[in-house]
Amino acid sequence: SAKARRSQEVIWYDSEMRLQDNDYKAIEGELRRAVAEGGEFEMHYQPIVSSRKPSKTVKFEALARWKNPSLGRVSPDKFIHVAETSGLIIPLGWMLLDLVCQDVKRLSCARVSINISPAQLMMPGFAKEFAERVAARGISPSQVEVEVTEQVVILDDITIATELSMLRDHGFSLALDDFGTGYSSIGYLTRMQFDVLKIDRSFSPSTHKDKHGARMLQSMVGLAHAMGLEIIAEGIETEEDVDILCSIGVDYLQGYFLGRPEPIFPSPGNPSILNETQP
Ligand code: C2E
Ligand code: MG
Ligand code: MG
Ligand code: MG
Repeated sequence: SAKARRSQEVIWYDSEMRLQDNDYKAIEGELRRAVAEGGEFEMHYQPIVSSRKPSKTVKFEALARWKNPSLGRVSPDKFIHVAETSGLIIPLGWMLLDLVCQDVKRLSCARVSINISPAQLMMPGFAKEFAERVAARGISPSQVEVEVTEQVVILDDITIATELSMLRDHGFSLALDDFGTGYSSIGYLTRMQFDVLKIDRSFSPSTHKDKHGARMLQSMVGLAHAMGLEIIAEGIETEEDVDILCSIGVDYLQGYFLGRPEPIFPSPGNPSILNETQP
């Protein structure tokens, strides 16, 4: 009967919820141990290229990877979320920053962008410690860009705003990530000084198929340029994406079509892209 089916659905739903809850608990437990012990995290790097010359990589975005002996590879969307809600993002964030700094040092003169969670920026003194850690590794702030999502715009928190502007005072450039997915207030964009706007991959032409897509992109690019911001388009998966976004006037491109996130330096069982022999 309909009623029995419905109760089945309820039970199914409930067990799925509990599974998700267990999932969270398992991730949190393992994450806590991994953050304390270190060694399970690695950074991958995805090229960001000039739209005028796609063979030219201007910087790399650092993306965290976690491989756990019992959970396997956990996606950053999952473990960063758990880290944020459990407070583990603070020690984890410092650990990831150190990994990036080590890699930047060995790359010499590379530029890199790094993702920072709102929970990190809510910590008074974050910008100062960030700058100190980067300096301790012998890296110039001009080599490092900080990416924050629209979540910081939504929170509109005074500590976040202060820490962000202090990062900028220290010489780090600021990028607003995943632009267009939340509700960005243009007012906030003018109050907070960003250097770069990253248009979310849901706007890339191959994904965003309706006829308003191109016009929406065009106006975002117009707005950003009028405000003196550089624009990176994310999620470039096809040559058509490249052509359309270049014609619209986007400055930089990032996506699987141009390069996947990869470990830049060789580690056991993880061959480096630099090791691949060029034909
Ligand atoms: P994000 O900062 O917006 O990073 C871009 C995401 O899009 C990455 O997913 C990247 O692998 C993926 N991507 C790049 N090109 C393409 C493409 O052409 N098509 C598709 N479908 N996807 C593409 P990833 O590495 O799974 O990271 C997911 C999110 O997790 C990041 O989104 C970021 O918000 C967060 N995250 C990753 N690493 C860190 C970190 O070190 N710290 C913090 N706080 N957050 C991080
Ligand atoms: Mg990002
Ligand atoms: Mg993004
Ligand atoms: Mg994202």
